[in-house]
Amino acid sequence: MPDTAILDRPAPVTTEHFDVLIVGAGISGVGAAYHLRTQMPDTRFVVLEAQETFGGTWWTHKYPGIRSDSDLHTFGYRFKPWRGTPIATAEEIRKYMGEVIEENELGPHIRYRHRIGTAAWSSAENLWTLDAVDAATGATRRFTGRFLYMCQGYYRHEEGYTPDWPGMDRFQGRIVHPQTWPEGLDYAGQRVVVIGSGATAATVVPAMAGRAAHVTMLQRSPTYFRTGRNAIEIAEQLRKLGIDEAWVHEVSRRQILHDQAAFTRRTFEEPEKVRDELLAIVRSHVGPDCDVETHFSPSYRPWRQRIAFIPNADLFKAVADGRASVVTDEIETFDETGIQLKSGQHLDADLVLTATGFHLNVLGDIAFTLDGKPLDFHQTVTYRGMMFTGLPNMVWVFGYFRASWTLRADLVGDFVCKLLRHMQAKGAQRVEVALRPEDHNMPILPWIDPENFNPGYLMRGMHLLPKRGDKAEWQHNQDYWTEKDQIPVIDLDDAAFRYG
Ligand SMILES: Cc1cc2nc3c(=O)[nH]c(=O)nc-3n(C[C@H](O)[C@H](O)[C@H](O)COP(=O)(O)OP(=O)(O)OC[C@H]3O[C@@H](n4cnc5c(N)ncnc54)[C@H](O)[C@@H]3O)c2cc1C
Repeated sequence: MPDTAILDRPAPVTTEHFDVLIVGAGISGVGAAYHLRTQMPDTRFVVLEAQETFGGTWWTHKYPGIRSDSDLHTFGYRFKPWRGTPIATAEEIRKYMGEVIEENELGPHIRYRHRIGTAAWSSAENLWTLDAVDAATGATRRFTGRFLYMCQGYYRHEEGYTPDWPGMDRFQGRIVHPQTWPEGLDYAGQRVVVIGSGATAATVVPAMAGRAAHVTMLQRSPTYFRTGRNAIEIAEQLRKLGIDEAWVHEVSRRQILHDQAAFTRRTFEEPEKVRDELLAIVRSHVGPDCDVETHFSPSYRPWRQRIAFIPNADLFKAVADGRASVVTDEIETFDETGIQLKSGQHLDADLVLTATGFHLNVLGDIAFTLDGKPLDFHQTVTYRGMMFTGLPNMVWVFGYFRASWTLRADLVGDFVCKLLRHMQAKGAQRVEVALRPEDHNMPILPWIDPENFNPGYLMRGMHLLPKRGDKAEWQHNQDYWTEKDQIPVIDLDDAAFRYG
């Protein structure tokens, strides 16, 4: 929701002008700044970030064990070698991002504690005007710019999504959402129930098991997981040979992407076989007492939801040795001592963690207007998941579900720089995308196809997201392997682009 308090604030105390305004200093925003700085060194840009420092996701999340679930050769930038283990902690990812900022002198371009509340486009001036509240002083600061580069991510950072279960107010223990993990929360010796079965639950359960008296992962339905050593064989081999880290990074990326493409293809071509393989691996780790069919065998086909990677099978080992357990059931009600399940079972708990997902945040919860009229984002059609009909001089970064987010952030970075250079060459002040005559009979569909991918936070927010068409140009196809070839050769003089 747009912050209406911001709308009511007094007039801004300062106005600064830039060529490009970047929203957000997560992995996408820092990458965007790098691409502008290196590919378009004369561009004046600013990065506006609501939080007190960079990192986005990797600053917000502070729960025990917080780590990536993709490898950092592909979640890391294409331009900066990753030297650590492929699955990395939030702290390691922030250190890496900090080096990118320092090595490329991006620091002076970033304004922290600047929450943007409004974005207004003026066709008369071909200009974006952003009003941000500076949390340090409470003052409103105005930023104007020719081009808006949205790197706001996809979920609200201030609060996670917790369903409203009956009896929550009666519970005498503590209920915490992992996204807002309280500093210093000590759970030693406590009975912990983690609600959820996604990547967050899979991370937090083994991290808390051992210190807690017991950790129960309570899920309504199971999830697929992959597991393996936290290492990339080819990277180890190349390092043994003393190969330069830039090469190690590039070769590892190619190997990983090659393997992922093959795996993804198999999930579509032979889903049953892949499913059997995934379950066999779980079975080999969790021990004979765990009912794998009930707890680890989803009803959907692999890849319809993101498959989290479990390094060194730590979740399964915690289940095997009894420090953790999995319960697949539904919540009837909370009560004073824990959770009453629909099956009749009761879970006693001192601490309940609701790893139940996100609140979708569309366009940074910013109130957008176009020439004074509120933007109805849902009525726009996306150009390759980067631009939107009727929304001039704006690109956003929305990554992949089935591959690392940053692969796309890098591709979009190249696209933005190419587009800005093209505008310069044409002397254009404005660019927007529009359906071509041949697109007018095209079916207009929801942002994603739930048959293809259907996580809860997207399903809950589909009415807020833009629409797509059924042609490659008019959708975010979620396929890195075709986009890596298509995006670099987009014809910027195609009739889909209108300049002014
Ligand atoms: C726990 C967790 C683990 C994940 N692991 C992986 C993984 O391993 N691999 C993967 O591919 N993806 C993963 N993801 C998805 C992940 O969010 C993205 O891959 C990536 O971090 C998104 O980066 P981003 O910079 O686009 O957005 P974010 O990290 O969400 O950062 C957006 C930034 O924009 C700022 N912002 C938003 N609105 C405003 C505003 N109005 N004014 C000012 N600033 C604003 C926010 O404060 C934030 O700092 C994970 C997500 C979570 C929650």
